[in-house]
Amino acid sequence: MQDRTEVAIVGAGAAGICLGAKLSSAGVPFIVLEKAEALGGTWRENVYPGSGCDVVSHLYSFSFAQKPDWTRRFAKQAEIQDYLQACAERFGVAEKIVFRANVTAARFDEGSREWMIEIAGGGTLRAKVLVTAVGQLNKPFTPSLPGLASFGGPAFHSAEWDRSAALQGKTVAVIGSGASAVQFVPEIAPTVERLTLFQRSPNWVIPKPDREIASLEAWIYRRLPFALRMLRLRDYWSLERSWSAFVQNTRYGRYWEEMSRKALEEAVSDPELRRALTPDYPAGCKRILLSNDWFRTLARENVRVVPRQAVSIEPSGVIDAAGQRHQADVLIFATGFDAQNFLPGIEITGRAGRSLREYWKPRPRAHRGMGVPGFPNLFMLYGPNTNLGHGSILFMLECQADYILRCLRLMRGRRLATLEPKESEAADYDAALQREMKRTVWVAGCSSWYKSPDGTVLNNWSSHTVKYWWQTRRPRLAEYHLG
Ligand code: NAP
Repeated sequence: MQDRTEVAIVGAGAAGICLGAKLSSAGVPFIVLEKAEALGGTWRENVYPGSGCDVVSHLYSFSFAQKPDWTRRFAKQAEIQDYLQACAERFGVAEKIVFRANVTAARFDEGSREWMIEIAGGGTLRAKVLVTAVGQLNKPFTPSLPGLASFGGPAFHSAEWDRSAALQGKTVAVIGSGASAVQFVPEIAPTVERLTLFQRSPNWVIPKPDREIASLEAWIYRRLPFALRMLRLRDYWSLERSWSAFVQNTRYGRYWEEMSRKALEEAVSDPELRRALTPDYPAGCKRILLSNDWFRTLARENVRVVPRQAVSIEPSGVIDAAGQRHQADVLIFATGFDAQNFLPGIEITGRAGRSLREYWKPRPRAHRGMGVPGFPNLFMLYGPNTNLGHGSILFMLECQADYILRCLRLMRGRRLATLEPKESEAADYDAALQREMKRTVWVAGCSSWYKSPDGTVLNNWSSHTVKYWWQTRRPRLAEYHLG
């Protein structure tokens, strides 16, 4: 690996590939540092049975690499992973990736005005611009339940699926009932002897309008790129319209609740189970889940829903919050991610030796979701307050990649060594965003990975995605210190 570059991107997931593709097309020198042995990020890691995307594929793809031949409306993990691999190769990103390069620290050197990027096991890369592209959901969270180490069988997190663990004929305990559980529980339930689902809180689950895409339809999209663009546009605006469900007390939100209730009533006849599966918070507060077989699976003879938290583990079972013991041969944690600890494992030091962790007390925030005052030439992709409850995160990533590219052009054009958000501008941006956030359903009565224990929403963008696009369509020089 060379020891100096213009742009260093940390992470070869969808975000890193997106920016890499744009830099490559613009002729900007860059390197992608990836801790793993392959690209794909979340789509490389989440290989549990049934893993797939709950955003339509024609929108969950880059605008500059639209794929006419998705095999279904909601693609599964392998097809998305193949798509990302193909994009990385097609746009000259693959050859710029350094694998097994785990970035542990980055320090801004005020003398050379470069980032000194440290890689585990030795090695330093100097870069004018540092871009983190590590995602928000990269660190699986497993609750430290007493007795966990004593469990006698396989125990693993859904994002670290143990393919060697045999499930057939076993009694499987699943802890957690969110977006990942909704996908893998229906896949494994028919093969296991018994499945016990520990549900701390239920979710609003609506039908998934999934279908296979016939080869004739794919042929039309291949032959008529205009038709593909129209489909994508229609998908974009239909999801964008659904934003209104994320504002408190709207008709759209109630419509989703009705839809979910209807699906539940159709699949589950037992009134007690129906009650256990009905949320007591407004739809959208936690992620709305899409599934056609979740409720039906939970009504199966061999599936039991325990509407209580798991509190401790024994060598051959799980104890719930009511003190009841449930036998288990295999334990699967579907307990989500450490989503609020942005940039885990990377110590970033800016001007005057200031650490990003310190700056982020009491909470992570970033100017336009990307920059931080005191940290020149640092950009984040999928940083604080850029996640979505609706829409495709790839759209947000493209807005950010375009913005970063414009910043780079501006720096080149004006021969700038540094670009750094002003504290006052970043504070105004953050205050406006949090003001707008108060109207959203996320601050209503539920806990979720979107917000901190004090109720501040740290992960999500506060409005329509078109507003984010508008705000990031070009950098405004007045928001930055130029050096
Ligand atoms: P999740 O949706 O946050 O679900 C975590 C589950 O674990 C929840 O049911 C939660 O209960 C439970 N839980 C957490 N800590 C617990 C504890 N200490 N004790 C007992 N239960 C606990 O996590 P996820 O399913 O991994 O999904 C995370 C995010 O990944 C999603 O929101 C989504 O953005 C993304 N994702 C996307 C897709 C896709 O199709 N695009 C698929 C999978 C995941 P509470 O609800 O009570 O907290």
